[in-house]
Amino acid sequence: MVVRMRQNRSQTAMRRSHHALAAKRAAVCECGALRAPHRACAHCGKYNGNVIVDVVARTKREQRRTKRKETELRQSGQLTESKEKEEKKA
Ligand SMILES: [Zn+2]
Repeated sequence: MVVRMRQNRSQTAMRRSHHALAAKRAAVCECGALRAPHRACAHCGKYNGNVIVDVVARTKREQRRTKRKETELRQSGQLTESKEKEEKKA
């Protein structure tokens, strides 16, 4: 950089005046949980009074996936009992 290009304190401060982070807004769902505005509720899966996401089915699917992953790891020998205990602690 050439000295001519150097920014003074004022220019740096003016650039940084737009760098502030704003807190995320939250709306209250009809189930009482906080949710992001214009998004379906992560707790009950409702949006605008209608069920959009089947939360029960999703958790069942996730449990099935983790179970399958664990069995695959165990069969390949990458997951031993000591490792499983470490993962449960974490
Ligand atoms: Zn909800």
